[in-house]
Amino acid sequence: MTDIMSCEIQLVSRPNGMPTADNFTIAQTKLEPLQDGQVLVRNLYMSVDPYMRGRMNEGKSYVPSFELGKALEGGAVGEVIESRAQEFKPGDVVTSNFGWREYFIAAPKELHPVSREMQPLSVYLGALGMTGMTAWVGLNLVEVKAGDVIFVSGAAGAVGSVAGQLAKLRGCRVIGSAGSAEKIKFLLEECGFDRAFNYNAGPVLEQLNLAAPDGIDVYFDNVGGETLEAALSALRVYGRIIACGGISGYNAQKPQPGPSNLFNLIGKRLTMKGLLVRDWLDRQGEFEQEVGGYFREGKLKNQETVVAGIDRAVDAFIGLFEGKNVGKMVVKLGEVSTN
Ligand code: NDP
Repeated sequence: MTDIMSCEIQLVSRPNGMPTADNFTIAQTKLEPLQDGQVLVRNLYMSVDPYMRGRMNEGKSYVPSFELGKALEGGAVGEVIESRAQEFKPGDVVTSNFGWREYFIAAPKELHPVSREMQPLSVYLGALGMTGMTAWVGLNLVEVKAGDVIFVSGAAGAVGSVAGQLAKLRGCRVIGSAGSAEKIKFLLEECGFDRAFNYNAGPVLEQLNLAAPDGIDVYFDNVGGETLEAALSALRVYGRIIACGGISGYNAQKPQPGPSNLFNLIGKRLTMKGLLVRDWLDRQGEFEQEVGGYFREGKLKNQETVVAGIDRAVDAFIGLFEGKNVGKMVVKLGEVSTN
């Protein structure tokens, strides 16, 4: 192995509110020589995800904080360039948590092999990756079934667009909310949602009541805030809430008040269940088989927004909070070799 220089994105200060480019720097590092039992990987795609915002704060949460002056971490798809471990050979395609950098060295147990035949390979960060699995887990968590009326917020994003499509495949009536007319068109015309509305176009509760005059059975919450409050009002007796995310509050500078109508949980005997996708890793094979099958059969669309180059990764990340993505936001770092 000749000397390899790798660009990586480091956090240099903790954002206060919305992150800015000044919170990050791009640095060049020289990789150490490869040792026995190690694998050298070149990243092809890296993921930017809303949960990373929480890791940029100081202090302990359910995930450890990113360290200042070190490369950020996150999902990535890469190609093995050189291997001194029997488990991998050059040309193998792997997923890992070593995103935000061009190259890395890892032990085999830190890599997950995937098929290089799949196109595009970035699907392993979207519909067949962590965000797709989150959608699948959410539906299983509250046993979404045929006939349910389900409302999905953040519906045009990575988790939401897959959650809505999987709910349609289960025979549900699906309603989505998202932040622009272009996204509403995408939900109705490409994802098969029954109804969709733009939450910026008017009060969420009014629009939800119009879309679901008889109420909803399930709410898949990706955003929290006003939308959660509206869903609590629209849910029917024995309704269920999948508490997946609350992006509307991720950049808040002080804790946000909870919904004013939480008492609906009692009056309507609602169930609200939180999920962390990483708790379900023992069911990853089942997820890959079911959802991979839908994808290969053309029943599931993996929409993505691709930004090119590691120097654009920070823009892509900030763009999540500005609604710049339709489907999964990914950063392309290179092409797979043609061997
Ligand atoms: P998305 O692909 O949905 O990207 C973020 C989207 O959020 C944006 O495109 C934007 O769309 C929307 N958004 C941004 N700011 C706001 C706001 N203030 N109010 C409402 N919507 C907003 O991200 P993911 O699909 O990766 O994640 C969706 C949610 O799922 C997040 O809350 C995330 O934290 C959560 N999550 C939870 C996991 C778990 O294990 N619990 C795992 C993975 C994700 P728009 O134009 O519609 O505003």
